[in-house]
Amino acid sequence: MSADEFDIIDRFFTRQPVTRDDVRLGIGDDAAVVQVPGDSELVLCMDTLVDGVHFPPHTPARAIGHKSLAVNLSDLAAMGAVPAWATLSLSMPRYDADWLSAFAGGFFALAERHGMQLVGGDTTRGPLSVTVQAHGHVAPGQYLRRSGAQAGDHVYVTGTLGDAGLALQLPGIAALQARLDYPQPRVAAGQALRGLATAAIDISDGLLADLAHLLESDGLGATVQVDALPRSAAFLAALQQAGTQRADWYHALPLAAGDDYELCFTVAQPQRAEVEQRLQQLDVPVTAIGRIEQQPGIRCVLADGTPCQPAATGYRHFADEPHG
Ligand code: ADP
Ligand code: MG
Repeated sequence: MSADEFDIIDRFFTRQPVTRDDVRLGIGDDAAVVQVPGDSELVLCMDTLVDGVHFPPHTPARAIGHKSLAVNLSDLAAMGAVPAWATLSLSMPRYDADWLSAFAGGFFALAERHGMQLVGGDTTRGPLSVTVQAHGHVAPGQYLRRSGAQAGDHVYVTGTLGDAGLALQLPGIAALQARLDYPQPRVAAGQALRGLATAAIDISDGLLADLAHLLESDGLGATVQVDALPRSAAFLAALQQAGTQRADWYHALPLAAGDDYELCFTVAQPQRAEVEQRLQQLDVPVTAIGRIEQQPGIRCVLADGTPCQPAATGYRHFADEPHG
């Protein structure tokens, strides 16, 4: 950025709640050096949040700090990885101490909850954009993948769906807004699913879009029981308030709105009881929502078996532009 770049790093990012023993060199040198735990594999992911694209303008800085790390932790969770280190590339239009302080507060509060240390990054002037790379580790071959599901497996999701999507439609409802601004990635659940789930993905673009990614990798399909989708009490209360005109949200938002940051995973019949028990011990709600089938495509059905196919299937960048 300018001379202030170093002041910013020093003032807002160098002091942090987590100091890991395995960080040989953190912020301040040309690169970070970490000691990867012996006999484990490194798991890497990166996600960018752009102002106006991934969060509405005027989203609180604390929420942006939280969410920039949360979306990455959610990817590590879907891999069954143990989070360890992060790097942060921050582009912002101007120096704003209050904004930076709130941003760092949100980032580090979540980092602390998961024992993560920020070990480096980059700071530049430009349109508001936040890129975080998260690094975790897992025992060799033990990571979860999108592929691996088999016909007959049960499809599960953690938590509830549609809350963040409804917050965008009906702003100002605290419980829903919290799901949008402060998603809590299912890190412990992801680790508990290692060796049990046949496939896993996190739900960022909407259940239908992300389940489709999971199915695509094996050329499979699924039936989804739309009435079985987990909806929060806040979601149901807000829909009731909104009235019958908005009844379509009851199906559409849990299926397609996105920003849920829950896990969607598949389990073979013999492992079901153990999966449900392990997640219950972790206090993670889990719901069976359908079955994997040979026939490609996702078939949404109501409790009585009638098909229910929503119009939109999830957020896609560049979807409105011609390919070529
Ligand atoms: P260089 O010019 O060698 O790339 P920088 O001046 O960009 O170094 O960064 C100096 C140090 O501060 C590096 O260790 C870098 O990783 C760290 N750093 C820069 N920006 C951030 C940030 N936003 N958060 C955490 N660490 C950062
Ligand atoms: Mg640099």
